[in-house]
Amino acid sequence: MIRNNKIIGILFCSAVLLFGICYGVQKRREYVPNVIVGAGLSGVVMAERIANEQGQKVLIIERRNHVGGNVYDYKDENGITVQKYGIHAFHTNNEDVWKYLSQYTEWHDYKHQALAETSKGLVNFPVNLNTIDQLFDVEFAQDFIKRLTDKFGFGQKISVSDLQNDADNVLQKGANILFEELFKNYTIKQWGMKSEDVDPSVIARVPIYLTREDAYFTDKYQGIPAQGYTAMIKKMLDNPLIEVRLNTDWRDVRDNLKYDKLFFSGSADAFFDYKFGKLPYRSLTFEIKEFPKEYYQPRAQVNHGNAPRMTRSIEHKYLLDEKSPVTTVSFEYPEAYNGKNERYYPINRPENAALYKKYMQEAEKLPNVYFFGRLGDYKYYNMDQAVARALELYHKVFK
Ligand code: UDP
Repeated sequence: MIRNNKIIGILFCSAVLLFGICYGVQKRREYVPNVIVGAGLSGVVMAERIANEQGQKVLIIERRNHVGGNVYDYKDENGITVQKYGIHAFHTNNEDVWKYLSQYTEWHDYKHQALAETSKGLVNFPVNLNTIDQLFDVEFAQDFIKRLTDKFGFGQKISVSDLQNDADNVLQKGANILFEELFKNYTIKQWGMKSEDVDPSVIARVPIYLTREDAYFTDKYQGIPAQGYTAMIKKMLDNPLIEVRLNTDWRDVRDNLKYDKLFFSGSADAFFDYKFGKLPYRSLTFEIKEFPKEYYQPRAQVNHGNAPRMTRSIEHKYLLDEKSPVTTVSFEYPEAYNGKNERYYPINRPENAALYKKYMQEAEKLPNVYFFGRLGDYKYYNMDQAVARALELYHKVFK
């Protein structure tokens, strides 16, 4: 009997101790109603809305040492605004997105233009009727342009891949030459796979424009934040209800936090500790160089499809029309994401979509966790689409 009482006593004390420990740990967890992982465009839009519209506190956890994600820019020692993670020319037809961002920035009127290096020298890119004149002999160019405009109509656009499959031999021949000169090797380098394995929607991002206008985009609203993207992002975050913790990996702090809602704009595989495997991404290396001359190249962007490794050179001073006797250029080299570089592009392949879906089936079991953004949704969003998606999610969750 005495022995039984002793055991009951020990068990009781252990239970009390365990409860005490659990309660203590629980109590030490920091509570914030809303946690956002990632201070890129998507995360910042969400934070801004929650703080400014709901009046709720937000904690942003950011692994890098700066806000803005891949739209981050900075002024270098020559006063040139450098887009650290490659060219981000803003363009949208979405008036709501444009109006929303315009609360936080004025816009420098910039319409993106590019050139591409070919066997015939620099030509206009994306391809338009001028490019055809530059690349083909006069007779072929005239015939090609006539057939294109007769069939599809002046002012229309068409994907090079569709044109390669056209029944008209001349259209097919022209398209094949355009593909070899401008698309094939660029695509192989960019995606690290055969061009035929790349989803057609990717190449269709840069269609053939049946116009004479040299414009990368045809969207109604175009520009670059007048003080740069970082300044715009900082304004969006300028609310005492928003706290940003830089240099912080979500996985190092997740056990110390308590929240009602978690908005995760990182990669879903990392969230679930890669339990079903890694979601692949393409990454980029940028070689940023200064040249002791006023201009290095004739446009902000020159594509180098047939160079051995490089895809693009970007001369940053064009973007905000900054004046300087020297110039800063970044050279872009695609590579696989390897865990040490940054994730840039989700890879649109059926097997990757299937893996992502498996993670999202897990996510459905967590009703207060929301995945969004280019990484969280594993979608090749443009900036305006990322903003629209964050706004849409915000409305879904809070309205
Ligand atoms: N592309 C190409 N040649 C070029 C530029 C683009 O073949 O000179 C293809 C390539 O497959 C690329 C896709 O078109 O991945 C989309 O290009 P975009 O300029 O939209 O890419 P981003 O700016 O998102 O890197």
